[in-house]
Amino acid sequence: MNSIVSIVGRPNVGKSTLFNRMVGSRDAIVHDEFGVTRDRHYGETFWNGLNFTVIDTGGYLPDEMDVIYQGVREQANIAMEESDLILFVVDTADGVNPLDESVAQILREQEKPVLLVVNKADNEHRMMSSAEFYSLGFDELYPVSAISGTGTGELMDKIVDLLPGQDRAEEVERQEPKIAFVGRPNVGKSSMVNALVKSERCIVTEIPGTTRDAIDSEIQYEDETYILVDTAGLRKKAKVRGNIEFYSNVRTDRALRECDVAIVIVDAMQGFEEQDKRIIREAARLNKGIIIVLNKWDTVPEKETNLFKEFQEYVYERIPMMRYIPIISTSALTGQRVDRILETARQVILERKKKISTPDLNDYLAKFIQERPLPMKRGKKLKIQYATQVKSSPPVFKFFMNNPEELPPNYRRFIEKKLRDQYQFTGVPITMVFRQK
Ligand code: GDP
Ligand code: GDP
Repeated sequence: MNSIVSIVGRPNVGKSTLFNRMVGSRDAIVHDEFGVTRDRHYGETFWNGLNFTVIDTGGYLPDEMDVIYQGVREQANIAMEESDLILFVVDTADGVNPLDESVAQILREQEKPVLLVVNKADNEHRMMSSAEFYSLGFDELYPVSAISGTGTGELMDKIVDLLPGQDRAEEVERQEPKIAFVGRPNVGKSSMVNALVKSERCIVTEIPGTTRDAIDSEIQYEDETYILVDTAGLRKKAKVRGNIEFYSNVRTDRALRECDVAIVIVDAMQGFEEQDKRIIREAARLNKGIIIVLNKWDTVPEKETNLFKEFQEYVYERIPMMRYIPIISTSALTGQRVDRILETARQVILERKKKISTPDLNDYLAKFIQERPLPMKRGKKLKIQYATQVKSSPPVFKFFMNNPEELPPNYRRFIEKKLRDQYQFTGVPITMVFRQK
């Protein structure tokens, strides 16, 4: 899993400029391919062979002057809990500011590595004056110009030196399937994890000391061990509005990356919003198993027979091409159908591991291509020669054909639909790649 580097500091010191310099267009390229616009304050980057995630905490601060002081301090606290390394940015054009001193104090009192970045050191003179920031009590400082890029290479070198290597990060990862509970604040993530942990059908086991995250629970269900990841937990410490959002984004992103199955919880009475869609799209982009849970079902008045079906349809209409995601209605409060979540997660994990044999796949492929022949392109008939599932967990299918770049998107969707008609892959995003034969 990627390490997280957070950029903290008061407004206008150049945090977002530094973020853009560190993450730059790399992030845009990766994500545009999938048509997903990422939060511009959250990005992945790599340097000297190491991938890591960078967060610009400034993007979440509210504008109101009176809460900025509290907000910046609180962010420093959250960043310490949530990241592996902190970049504390100050502004050499402005000099040492009382808010810098206040943040420095918070950061000095903890163990995580902090790099003091003195920004706007655009010229020799400013470079010299950056020394005044030694008064903040850090042993080293890194003068940079985020705008021109001066000094940022050295900064990146130092960051990579201090972060745990990719191998080390993977070593401590557990083998047991991880089920992450994600969703907007207050939908019932914590309540759901609690309900499951207390359920008679689950046995809670001790997580050995190696696990970094105190909010993971390990349970046994039907002879299988699972790790439940509650993304709410620590979030409750945040008070400033922007920081709550910041916190839940960091948590959600991290949990989605780590998990095998994402349980996306939606408050049945609140409806289905942009934020819910975003989480689902992100889980799909990362090729995770996905289950949607309509929680607080107990609060839905007058349950007519078809109500659940209507809800389900309402959700599917908002996430086209994702009818493969199972939807469950539950109540964490009464315990209604909460066991169904684990049952479904177990199935989704199996589906994600499924491997279709190549002869079987090709027999079927030949049949459905006949049903709807491939179109002509530039006077030539498109042809798919054969297909094979190259991997599972997550499943990837490779199709060999002439002129793959000419394959129309609607035919691609047709293939996915056909694959699902035959092989289901319930709750599992399928990756399809088309290659020149
Ligand atoms: P944030 O509020 O900390 O995210 O700061 P921004 O990144 O939005 O930058 C605030 C202002 O400082 C903008 O006008 C930037 O163009 C400017 N700025 C950022 N980095 C540098 C730099 O290295 N040198 C100079 N001269 N200006 C910079
Ligand atoms: P989180 O922020 O997503 O972790 O949400 P919480 O688990 O803290 O729940 C937020 C609020 O919703 C709390 O007051 C819970 O008691 C309540 N809640 C959670 N699940 C249910 C449910 O199924 N039914 C009802 N009526 N309330 C629920």
